[in-house]
Amino acid sequence: MSDNKVNNVFGHVQSVLPYEEKALEPVISANTIGFHYGKHHKGYVDALNKLIIGTEFAGMKLEMTIAATAGKADKVAIFNNAAQTWNHMFYWNSLTHKGSGEPSAALKQKIESSFGTLDALKKELATAATTHFGSGWVWLVLDDGKLKVVKTGNADSPLSMKVKPLLTIDVWEHAYYLDYQNRRADYVAAVIAKLINWGFAADNLTPAFEEVN
Ligand code: MN
Repeated sequence: MSDNKVNNVFGHVQSVLPYEEKALEPVISANTIGFHYGKHHKGYVDALNKLIIGTEFAGMKLEMTIAATAGKADKVAIFNNAAQTWNHMFYWNSLTHKGSGEPSAALKQKIESSFGTLDALKKELATAATTHFGSGWVWLVLDDGKLKVVKTGNADSPLSMKVKPLLTIDVWEHAYYLDYQNRRADYVAAVIAKLINWGFAADNLTPAFEEVN
């Protein structure tokens, strides 16, 4: 969470991919990660750094930049690239090569009080991800003490919705097209069954999340 660094000389630094490019195979190929992390995510970081040169956003933390540009018509390009820089960092960490496993006891209790069962949450994530029209993201968020599944379009992030994101799934076509072509539902089902990092979601439930951000 804390590896999006910024300084006045070099600008924002792309977050580290927390596993090897081939680590998520066979659900997501090294080829997809190579393009998605190496070209798309890097492209957002590079574009952001160019856009902020000489502006009030040079040297500003990423989360603050997102908050300061959200909803401002004349700052759309900076917002889009800043939010996509953050969203992708969050997405890489929402996935794990160690297999989906089970949520911790505390997270599971929260899931059950909000959705009834873990399976019900998985179903809601899958439905949201497959029915979202166009490019965007599906998120598990904490909203006023309750867990919810929300969708955002394009670069939009729950960071500007006053809720705390716990995990996300990227449903832009570039996230799955090389492996699944138009079959978004198959990508989503495989990610939910095999790659969700419940440990990351549990970490985001704790106050430590706020301290490092
Ligand atoms: Mn993406």
